[in-house]
Amino acid sequence: MGPCPGRDDIQFRLTAVAPSSAVSLQSVSRHFGAVRALDQIDLEVVEGEFFAMLGPSGSGKTTCLRLIAGFEQPTSGHVRIFGEAVEGVPPYRRNVNTVFQDYALFPHLNVRENVEFSLMLRKVDKPTRRREAEAALAMVKLADYGDRRPGQLSGGQRQRVALARAIVNKPKVLLLDEPLGALDLKLREQMQEELKALQRTLGITFVFVTHDQGEALSMADRVAVFNHGRLVQVGTPEEIYRRPNSRFVADFVGSSNVLGPDFVNGVTGERRWASLRPEAIHVIRAGEGISRLTGTVVARSFLGATIRLAIDMSGTMIHAVLPSADGAPSEGDRVTLGFPKDALHYLDDET
Ligand code: ATP
Repeated sequence: MGPCPGRDDIQFRLTAVAPSSAVSLQSVSRHFGAVRALDQIDLEVVEGEFFAMLGPSGSGKTTCLRLIAGFEQPTSGHVRIFGEAVEGVPPYRRNVNTVFQDYALFPHLNVRENVEFSLMLRKVDKPTRRREAEAALAMVKLADYGDRRPGQLSGGQRQRVALARAIVNKPKVLLLDEPLGALDLKLREQMQEELKALQRTLGITFVFVTHDQGEALSMADRVAVFNHGRLVQVGTPEEIYRRPNSRFVADFVGSSNVLGPDFVNGVTGERRWASLRPEAIHVIRAGEGISRLTGTVVARSFLGATIRLAIDMSGTMIHAVLPSADGAPSEGDRVTLGFPKDALHYLDDET
């Protein structure tokens, strides 16, 4: 008889298994009459992931989130949560919780009662309810605010109550629909960091909807980009930013320069569409270097740490972002552009 496996062996086997699928969409479509809100979506969210769904207004992100939550049903296709088909399963039986953009707090209940509410519906006894609510409030740094009403809180604090109310149910997947949309920029940046830290602490899967590309890139492990009800690219923030697969993604994620085949042909000899990040471009005054890429600065915006230039290159407008410490050419200056060869990224999809 061989030796019994020790605890280390078991531990090894447990950690060696591939991460499981938390949410899976297979060929999912949702049509509202003639409107194809979602069209043939295939998507896999891995357990423990911070997953962002990014796209312009009307691209279908919220519909996708509502399908996962159970507030919508697909016109066709399948939704699975942890491998289980959820067609016909109501939202409250899906092991997911949603944090809505408007928070949907009960104004007449205090913060603690808001957080306890869903536990009360599930007939959890009072001492347990209280304990769990206090723990959830501590998690979002609101331990001392239990007796306040939502109307007596700031926007950021109300947002945290909404989070506490969701995490108190210990969902395996937390769905967040533009949860930071109502906050001002400073608070939003602070909450982005807190939300990310909270996700790491809880270790649960977050699926996050936003139309703010900076928010998606800074917070998510992976980003899914939507356009016109279709999923156009899925990847890590770096992949999406550095290697967009289409003109749409290059332009929407990070405002890249999208260069047409004629222009690219003049630079590289290849007649293809390409993207070029504004921050990859060096700008020097014309005459200081040798390059065919010479143009005129037509606009200059001071952005604090950086300066953004719009440069007219014989009809093609190129944007460059320079560190403002360097000083920068002024409007009307003739300038020469340079960039590393690998900064020019060819686009496979010309849409
Ligand atoms: P936003 O960022 O503005 O919230 P979104 O990307 O979340 O946009 P959705 O709300 O999913 O977009 O909407 C996708 C499309 O489906 C839009 O054209 C929208 O008008 C349409 N739509 C969504 N819900 C319904 C509905 N209940 N009835 C009819 N059309 C709908």
